[in-house]
Amino acid sequence: MAIEFTCPQCGTIVEVERAGDERACPACKHKIGRVVQLDQLLGRWWEPRRWRADLVKPSVPYLVERLWTANGQGERLYVGVSPKYTGYDIFRNMVTRLMIRGIDEGWAELTFPRDPLDEDPQYILTIVDSEKFAEGVEKLFPEVDWDEPVSAAVAEAVGQSATQAKRGKSKSKKKR
Ligand SMILES: [Zn+2]
Repeated sequence: MAIEFTCPQCGTIVEVERAGDERACPACKHKIGRVVQLDQLLGRWWEPRRWRADLVKPSVPYLVERLWTANGQGERLYVGVSPKYTGYDIFRNMVTRLMIRGIDEGWAELTFPRDPLDEDPQYILTIVDSEKFAEGVEKLFPEVDWDEPVSAAVAEAVGQSATQAKRGKSKSKKKR
């Protein structure tokens, strides 16, 4: 299903074949990446539902946080990292921002549902380069002693064994 986005930089309407396919704006070359697309899709999804009291207005950080903290993964990562000066609320905010950056940089992959305007669209967030993710977390909390157990906890939190995280270099499928 082709879908139209508005270039956030120049306002040109940019059509992509499928939500989640990245394109450069034909007019100004600005990247119409996944975060931009997600932001616009959530707005469109919300528009006809904004009167509903049972729903929360979704935003990119809101959705991304829900995805990466699902199934207790957020708490597990927090316990694994155990930052000295940061509570869980702030930790979640910081890691959510990191994940959003990851989606733009490509080390985290956001898979879009077939119909993003469906009643209950299911997005999937996967860390494709756990080494990059671990590096990012490490930079956020420099006071933590980043020895083996902590790195292992980060790897475990994203669903990979520590050895896999170490190798980690094998890139996922090439971008077209
Ligand atoms: Zn543009």
